[in-house]
Amino acid sequence: MLVYVRVTGNWMLTLEEVKQISSLTALLTSLNPSQRYAVELTEGPLMVIAGAGSGKTRVLTHRIAYLVHTGLSSPHAILALTFTQKAAREMRDRLDILLGERAEQLMLGTFHALALRIVKTEGQKLGYDISRLRVFDAAHARAALQQAMRQAKLDERRWDAAQIADAIARAKQQLRNPDAFVRVNGDVYETTVGRVYTIYQQILKQANAVDFDDLLMLAAQLLRDDADVREFYATIYRYVLVDELQDVSELQYLLMRRIAERHENICVVGSPAQAIYGWRGASAPAILNRFERDFPTAEVIVLDQNYRSTQTIITAANAIIHEPSTAPDLRRTGPALAEREKPLWTHNAAGMPITLKTAASESDEAKHVITEIVSLIQDDGFRADQCMVLFRTHRLARPLEQALLRAGLPYTLEGDNSFFNRKEVKDMLAYLSLAHNPDNPLALERVINVPPRGLGPKALEAIKAGEPQLSLTLLLNALAEENLKPTIREALQGFHDLVLGTLYEAGGSLPLGDLFDLTLEATGYQLWLAEQAGDAQRLANLDELRRLALRQPEVDDPRRALGDFLNDIALLAESDPLYLDHGGVKLITIHTAKGLEARAVFLIGLEEGVFPHQRALGTQAELNEERRVFYVGLTRAMERLYLSYARTRGGPDGRLHDHAPSRFVREIPRNLIEHLT
Ligand code: ATP
Ligand code: MG
Repeated sequence: MLVYVRVTGNWMLTLEEVKQISSLTALLTSLNPSQRYAVELTEGPLMVIAGAGSGKTRVLTHRIAYLVHTGLSSPHAILALTFTQKAAREMRDRLDILLGERAEQLMLGTFHALALRIVKTEGQKLGYDISRLRVFDAAHARAALQQAMRQAKLDERRWDAAQIADAIARAKQQLRNPDAFVRVNGDVYETTVGRVYTIYQQILKQANAVDFDDLLMLAAQLLRDDADVREFYATIYRYVLVDELQDVSELQYLLMRRIAERHENICVVGSPAQAIYGWRGASAPAILNRFERDFPTAEVIVLDQNYRSTQTIITAANAIIHEPSTAPDLRRTGPALAEREKPLWTHNAAGMPITLKTAASESDEAKHVITEIVSLIQDDGFRADQCMVLFRTHRLARPLEQALLRAGLPYTLEGDNSFFNRKEVKDMLAYLSLAHNPDNPLALERVINVPPRGLGPKALEAIKAGEPQLSLTLLLNALAEENLKPTIREALQGFHDLVLGTLYEAGGSLPLGDLFDLTLEATGYQLWLAEQAGDAQRLANLDELRRLALRQPEVDDPRRALGDFLNDIALLAESDPLYLDHGGVKLITIHTAKGLEARAVFLIGLEEGVFPHQRALGTQAELNEERRVFYVGLTRAMERLYLSYARTRGGPDGRLHDHAPSRFVREIPRNLIEHLT
């Protein structure tokens, strides 16, 4: 039924249209003039440069909603890229409100998710079986590299695996295949690493797997070298939006540029003062310059009004980044564009002073934080989940976690990804990946004797018969061997049947939750864990993994669902720390808190050598990055900001160390701070 409403004159609009207009009006009136300009300037390249809390992410979400509401674009034609899956989820939540169901049709995610989508669609051109493609997580990749080093017969004492991994990652960042790796002929280092790189890629290819850098490299290569692929992606995505440009890597940049180069409707937002991934190879000045060169017609909009924080917090944050005497970094070394980031101002009230607690020890500091949180909740009406405790490194969270437990306060601790490195989680994922694709040498070798089934290292060596990698063929060869010991034959036959019969079968027929339970049982893993005293924690971890499996959206093809789950887990482990989310107070590193906000923020461990980090004291560039991390930390706070440091703290070496307060704390104007002792 159509309902007509009289508006003015002869114009007749449907109720639907009236709703649309009013939501569009609401959308635009919730923006300041500069933000609104950035939202309405839909065609052509655009860059928004602005400090923390000035509404950059808001511009992106409103721009997407504007494009859809006005009918300028269908959601399918919009590509929005963010840094972490958590940031993507937050953006999607905001868009659910603005767009309703249509938000689901947007391609909104991380660069890695986009790259995975491209490689999964186009990867057969590169010789992958895309229905069974696996993304290797960091642990898998490390194991593959070690194997490659062994095959290349490198002496492990002389060659540092981490260094070789870095060299390979750098090569991939520069789009260099193994063939193109060796640049200086005759250079022993380069030829050796080149050899390992070649073998490493072969191992991955054999497992039909890619690592994280491959994902970006292969997607970028496909877009560069294959006109069809480029044409397709550059055509379907009419509008490209990118958050946190300051931390985008070369390869990520290449990806977005290739896709945006046809329509050139690209909107990027960034805050050079918040560039905190230099240690991973991102360079804000370089990327900003590239953007300016590649899109010379880009409009640049500068925002400077902060909506998030009190006046007091903003004054402190400005002093850290924009004070020429203390923070010349942005102005002196930045390119022209980076210099455009202006100091922030706000209409918000002055608010409470920032408090600075000098604690005698780390437990004293933890006690202080808990007391303040309890008082915020009991006296000031805060909810626990409106409080955020931020730290430079995970180590600092431990005393706090204990204190929260003791106080009975709920909390959510950002994991340090050790979850995915736990033995039981890795074992289970290995079994599940065999259910997906049984010819996975690394997974076979990992679980052939877990739980113990009489196929220990000696038996394994015999089965491998001198080959570098275990495979299904080798299992069969060994079974055909006449003089194989009967006990080993029996165990091997059992393992073979388990993998190919039970697991692989089930992988193609059972929904994930059922497959998970069957795997735990059929492999004997659950029983084995249960028999070992004190392993309740391990069973709980497997429960957590099962919970993640159940969160996976259902698709008709169980094997595809399984493959998607394994790849998602790998992506999750790479881009986001795992939150074992129990609501309550949030305990996270500053790096992960980028883009987030909370009513009350506690910045702990503000000590020289801790923050700025000991390792960063060497060069001005590293020190500047620490300063930007500090700025990110301060600017998460909306109403209350609590700083603290401990005069003594246990170091990574297990000893107690004396510390002076962080130089950054001393740079905050004194009149903004209330000292607590
Ligand atoms: P960061 O640099 O930390 O990522 P940002 O620039 O992306 O910050 P947003 O997260 O988009 O900033 O906005 C910060 C806060 O200010 C949010 O709560 C947002 O809703 C609010 N905000 C932004 N612009 C406006 C506005 N024009 N009117 C009211 N609130 C606004
Ligand atoms: Mg943001």
